[in-house]
Amino acid sequence: MFLISRCFRLSRCLLGFRRGVSEFTPSGHRTLVAIDFDKTIVEQDSYLAVSELLPTRQRKELQDLIPKCGWLSFISRVLQALHGEHKVNSASVGLRVRSLRAVPGMLRVVRRLARNQEVDLCIVSDSNSFFIGEWLQAYSIECLFAGGVFTNPACVQRSGEVLVLPYQEQTDCNLCPSNLCKGSVLEELSCSGRYERVIYVGDSCNDLCAMKRLQEKDVACIRRGFELHEKMAAHGQELACSVHTWRDGHELEELLMPKIVA
Ligand SMILES: [Mg+2]
Ligand SMILES: [Zn+2]
Repeated sequence: MFLISRCFRLSRCLLGFRRGVSEFTPSGHRTLVAIDFDKTIVEQDSYLAVSELLPTRQRKELQDLIPKCGWLSFISRVLQALHGEHKVNSASVGLRVRSLRAVPGMLRVVRRLARNQEVDLCIVSDSNSFFIGEWLQAYSIECLFAGGVFTNPACVQRSGEVLVLPYQEQTDCNLCPSNLCKGSVLEELSCSGRYERVIYVGDSCNDLCAMKRLQEKDVACIRRGFELHEKMAAHGQELACSVHTWRDGHELEELLMPKIVA
């Protein structure tokens, strides 16, 4: 908490890291569609994409640290090196993030889902509020995620360096990194009483933690051909919800629109 308040004092906060939720009237009939960001909304991993701004050798050295130090530490070192050694500021980092391509059909399905009065969309991501905010602004869709954006808070310091902080410090869940347990976010949202049903869309193993918190009436949508899909033979029985697979936004649209209308 100390770090977060210090960051906010020093810097301009770009996107609330837990915004939205308290603004909505409780209703027992709403559906929450919770969506991961990297490789689910955008094709690439945003942290790896930004690390490509570094010289190849330095990028590879930092990538080698990921298994030991984790993704948050990785991106912190990348952003520090970009700003300190290569004079790359937040505007250039933002431009790199804005250039990330959407998964085909994803913008369309997100816009269609958001038009439904009974649906709230939210993002649950181990990226950060600066990257996600930049990308959503590039497509003018930041207002569609009325359910909130649950991610690591980030801010731009006066110097122009982007600083990313942990969403939380947790030791309860070993499926997730210490800075963000997606399952705990989902549990809090499910227990809020706002939603009759939760649909969760994701591609990787920390999405599994969120999906494990879903109940029978809920739906997990796993991206085919990606990390989590490959592990479903081993983990499928751990899920109480119904499970579907999708490859792109077009398939997701076909899958979800009848469920939302029904
Ligand atoms: Mg992902
Ligand atoms: Zn977890």
